[in-house]
Amino acid sequence: MRLTTLGTGTASPSTRVNAGHLVEAGAVTLLMDCGSGVAHRMGELGANWLGITHLAFTHFHPDHTLDLTTLMFAWRYGALPPRSAPLTILGPVGTAQLIEQFAAIYGDKVKDPGFPVTVRELAPGERAELGDGVTIEAHKVPHTAESVAYSVERGSARLVFTGDTAFDTAVAEWARGCDVLLAECSLPEQLAVPTHLTPAQVGVMAEVAEPGRLVLTHFYPPVLDEDIAEIIALRYSGEVVIAFDGWSTDIEER
Ligand SMILES: [Zn+2]
Ligand SMILES: [Zn+2]
Repeated sequence: MRLTTLGTGTASPSTRVNAGHLVEAGAVTLLMDCGSGVAHRMGELGANWLGITHLAFTHFHPDHTLDLTTLMFAWRYGALPPRSAPLTILGPVGTAQLIEQFAAIYGDKVKDPGFPVTVRELAPGERAELGDGVTIEAHKVPHTAESVAYSVERGSARLVFTGDTAFDTAVAEWARGCDVLLAECSLPEQLAVPTHLTPAQVGVMAEVAEPGRLVLTHFYPPVLDEDIAEIIALRYSGEVVIAFDGWSTDIEER
């Protein structure tokens, strides 16, 4: 399994684009979230955007969803022959309605782009088979009403992506022992809000989850002025990666 962090930023302009994380496992190419800039970041990095088989939304905030429309047009007009391979869009309950709302603004091609599109809504606790031994499971997180974290597994490889979340030991317990915990790390202590994580909170969650590696994403620029790794090391002694757009790693499938 290979993870590439495409978009490690937020709505705040910086060298990091909005949320987007690519998982390649066997025949599955899964894009988790697609905020603004993710489509073009894939082009810049030479990522396999044409080959994406599954798209999974963690929640409906614009920094995680706005490039859906961009990708639908890219898949239709961005290559010859135009895409014919099916696409499955996964997401929390309400995902079908979100796509209807995009279609109401930008036209029916968003939901009917000339190749088969299937929408599969996952309630918290639900698991879906993506093919070739890859599964995805959703877990409720406190951020918006619909927000979920995802666990993506193939063989022994397990990647957990928190999506956007507030401090929550339940999701950390659910993630326990995963190979990679891909966690949001939005804001420094001085800007802390009840819906996102600070480095200290991530540290406590990582202490509970005990992942093989902790990979951080979803940075508002001020948090990057903190010594994030030092703060987290007070609670978690494993490897900490401050990811950037284009960072990638292999997760062994034993
Ligand atoms: Zn959000
Ligand atoms: Zn976000």
